[in-house]
Amino acid sequence: MLRIDVVTIFPELFGAFLRTSIVGIGRESGALEVSTHDLRGFTTDRHRTVDDAPYGGGPGMVMKPEPLVEAIEALAGPKGAQRTARVLLLSPQGETLDQARVVQMAGQQHLVLVCGRYEGVDQRVIDLAVDEEISIGDYVLSGGEVPAMAVIEAVARLLPGVLGNPESAGSDSFEQGLLEGPQYTRPAVFRGRAVPEVLLSGNHAAVARWRAEQARETTRRRRPDLLRRAGREGDER
Ligand code: SAM
Repeated sequence: MLRIDVVTIFPELFGAFLRTSIVGIGRESGALEVSTHDLRGFTTDRHRTVDDAPYGGGPGMVMKPEPLVEAIEALAGPKGAQRTARVLLLSPQGETLDQARVVQMAGQQHLVLVCGRYEGVDQRVIDLAVDEEISIGDYVLSGGEVPAMAVIEAVARLLPGVLGNPESAGSDSFEQGLLEGPQYTRPAVFRGRAVPEVLLSGNHAAVARWRAEQARETTRRRRPDLLRRAGREGDER
């Protein structure tokens, strides 16, 4: 079972997301437990303040260190060798999320996802309490909640018993270091476009060969960097 705690100033954003589809199934099946924690519950002042003006001036506000460190330590304990949870801050400055990282996360017992807002968080939160910073791509969102949902959804589909057919995760893009090729369903002809013959042949070996070729070809056209990486890793092995 994977436990995920999310620290956010907008816990209400997660309601429908956590109840729906694969994430909802994962929680119902007991493979996944997700709790959201309102950062304002870790403040001590009357106004429940979570942000303050940046030292040195500049636009916007910065998330204060006290409530964030308080929340993270309450959920994960102090940073260090004794900590069993992995504390991830969602941040555009982090390492870019990829399937290899998702696989690693799915193998953990406990993740704490910290969602920034405003101009981001005081650096001392990262130094004192965060294990890793994760970005979901080279663009800037207004908060870490959507990135946290991306992490939760990517991880949930890898947990045992969550997907109806566990093989479907294995054939997804990136699992074999390649993109998945084209897919078809009924009807066999749609607006004059026919499904490739081989898929109707009933010859499983031929279908598997066709899919492997298509995956390679799609990857070569769209993401040659993945093929080069797969080649390098193969050479190293
Ligand atoms: N000033 C920050 C910068 O330039 O790096 C951007 C802060 S952003 C407006 C507010 C919060 O949204 C961040 O602290 C982070 O939690 C989240 N966020 C925005 N873009 C993200 C991304 N690409 N990946 C992960 N988190 C992101």
